Amino acid sequence: VVKEHGGGSLMMYEPGTAQKTLERILLENELRKSVQKGHFTLEYQPKMNLELGELSGVEALVRWNHPDLGRIPPDTFIPLAEETKIIVPLGEWILRQACKQAWQWRKQGFKPFRIAVNMSTVQLEEPDIVSTIKRVLHEEDVTPEFIEIELTESSFADREEMRHTIQAIREIGITVAIDDFGTGYSTFSYIKELPADTLKIDMSFIQDIDVNEQSRAIVKAIVTLADTAGLRVIAEGIETEEQAKLLLTLGCKEGQGYFYSKPVPADECEYMIPKTVEYE
Ligand code: C2E
Ligand code: MG
Ligand code: MG
Ligand code: MG
Repeated sequence: VVKEHGGGSLMMYEPGTAQKTLERILLENELRKSVQKGHFTLEYQPKMNLELGELSGVEALVRWNHPDLGRIPPDTFIPLAEETKIIVPLGEWILRQACKQAWQWRKQGFKPFRIAVNMSTVQLEEPDIVSTIKRVLHEEDVTPEFIEIELTESSFADREEMRHTIQAIREIGITVAIDDFGTGYSTFSYIKELPADTLKIDMSFIQDIDVNEQSRAIVKAIVTLADTAGLRVIAEGIETEEQAKLLLTLGCKEGQGYFYSKPVPADECEYMIPKTVEYE
């Protein structure tokens, strides 16, 4: 197959393009079916207070368990779910599921903490997103201090409206974290204007923190920035004890990563949560 390319030259279609398109369509179909059939689950990864070695919160991460294809990673299907807007109903299901879990853990007498839910920019663009969030919390009988929302820098960068939406979410009482911080285009100078509570340092700076002077400098700069702006800071992707120790010396007191735990089903996560009171 050939295609006219600007200037009259001819360009061959990349081999495998049709194949990829077909796969994409099939996958999109499967994604829709799976949303209806409920082939998704959430896993939870503990966020740790690095000084105390104690759980301070969890992040909910969606898992797609396809009956035939097996487990499909979020990096594969989330972009597709975003393009097709399937992320809108799927994202509502994810929030609801996280709320149900928050309710469960509260009822079981665990120490209160926030469950962080990742939210895509596509969801934020929905005009009724704030009322959807309020409604889901209300229906699941969960108060906002049990929920945090993680957004990437791109959600903040774009438009004024988006920031209003984020601010409205914070006004409910839900905290907002900027995920993968340091990889986007936020310039340090306007961070004060961002409606956020937490900076979540991208794992690329953590994973070579013990060998790369520059990563260390960046982490230190982000910690200082957070301090001055009155934001919390958390590191993601901690895989070794050495990385955790280095982070503490740089002033970062919270983190998550395989060193503490990979994302696990709720019941496996429970072993790591401090208990307070049992209430019936
Ligand atoms: P993210 O929100 O930045 O999540 C962190 C990812 O890093 C997760 O991958 C997590 O399993 C992984 N991770 C955690 N600790 C370590 C570590 O020590 N080392 C390494 N190498 N990786 C670690 P996962 O679950 O595959 O998710 C990938 C991305 O997919 C997420 O990045 C997020 O952008 C998206 N995603 C996942 N769940 C959801 C969701 O429920 N909604 C939305 N909108 N996006 C989601
Ligand atoms: Mg996240
Ligand atoms: Mg991240
Ligand atoms: Mg990410």
